[in-house]
Amino acid sequence: MTFEAFPTHALMEITSRPPLVFVRGEGSWLWDHEGKRYLDFVQGWAVNCFGHSPAVVVNALAEQSRKLITPSPAFYNEPSLRLARRIVEESCYHQVFFTNSGAEANEGAFKLARKWGALNKAGAYEIITFVDAFHGRTLAAMSASGKTAFDALFEPKVPGFPRARLNDLASVENLITDKTVGVMLEPIQGEAGVFIATDAFLRDLRELTRQRGLLLIVDEIQTGVGRTGKLWGYEHAGIEPDIMTLGKMLGGGVPLAALVATDAVSCFAHGDQGGTFNGNPLMAAVGNAVMEAVLAPGFLQTVEARGAYVTKGLAGLSARHGLGEVRGRGLLIALDLNKEIAPRVVELARDAGLLLNAPRPSMLRFMPALNLSQDEADTMLGMLDGVLKQALAEDAGKK
Ligand SMILES: *Cc1c(COP(=O)(O)O)cnc(C)c1O
Repeated sequence: MTFEAFPTHALMEITSRPPLVFVRGEGSWLWDHEGKRYLDFVQGWAVNCFGHSPAVVVNALAEQSRKLITPSPAFYNEPSLRLARRIVEESCYHQVFFTNSGAEANEGAFKLARKWGALNKAGAYEIITFVDAFHGRTLAAMSASGKTAFDALFEPKVPGFPRARLNDLASVENLITDKTVGVMLEPIQGEAGVFIATDAFLRDLRELTRQRGLLLIVDEIQTGVGRTGKLWGYEHAGIEPDIMTLGKMLGGGVPLAALVATDAVSCFAHGDQGGTFNGNPLMAAVGNAVMEAVLAPGFLQTVEARGAYVTKGLAGLSARHGLGEVRGRGLLIALDLNKEIAPRVVELARDAGLLLNAPRPSMLRFMPALNLSQDEADTMLGMLDGVLKQALAEDAGKK
């Protein structure tokens, strides 16, 4: 079947997509409608922790789908109880509300913080967020995000999200008023291009929020569940936030996300929060299988080691081609190209059979499966070397 034969006009045009239809995946590899194979360093947007269609996800879906799919969120089901217990046992939090997407988990965090403010802080509701932050695409999540492309969209925004600057404690302090209920940030700003909140900043922020009686909320939708080489991103700084949101890798490829909070903050009353598919056993069964595999002895150490390997390889390419900084943690890594050639690099890489992401025109982001093999890392580095050479030659030719 040729690309033109697919009914693409029936889908809303929400982004520019390449003229490819993906039909099959296996681990780090994807196949398109013409049978062409791609090495995938996008992985569903940092979602597929064990790559495409891994046994761990396939088996959990198959087994659970034969038992029970949706009893209703008004009843308990065993997989969601087990997954909630696992998350709280492995973290500094005590209670979980499952959602179907990251943005929905963040909506839950805003609501929980506002409820807590209503009960404990005379109706304080403002949540300080950060320039370049990304928290999702519902109206409140876009309002909380610091992406300049969102600024003019869908006005009026949801009020109550003043914006500080990452790694600048004074910029946070300056925004605190008696309306402030909390501070929310990503331990690593992923969509912005992998900018790390330093361990010192996170520790200072924890101290400041504690002193001022404010909630610290971490959006771990991209950093959670092992991406950075630790189970949760906040662990690098040794802090204990009050609220965390999860998504992406928690479901290993299926829609599963979560709002997680300490006992002291878990103040929803009956009727405050809910949702038809929330905590359904089919997705929760996958979440259990993913957590089991990520927490298998030694697994997170291999993520860290593989991350260091890819980082070193990218630093080598950067030096060879005269590019910029390589930064990241675990297997969430960015390479600065220092020239606005990233979209062209992505295109050339795709032609060569490698899927990459350019969060900004001068930047590449790498978010492979956590079980990436060293061979696959080497294959990517080799392909990227050739692609960079070509893109840089084209760019030089234009001048
Ligand atoms: C992807 C992402 C979101 C949004 O999650 P969705 O599942 O797309 O709604 C929110 N915050 C961060 C940090 C993300 O990376």
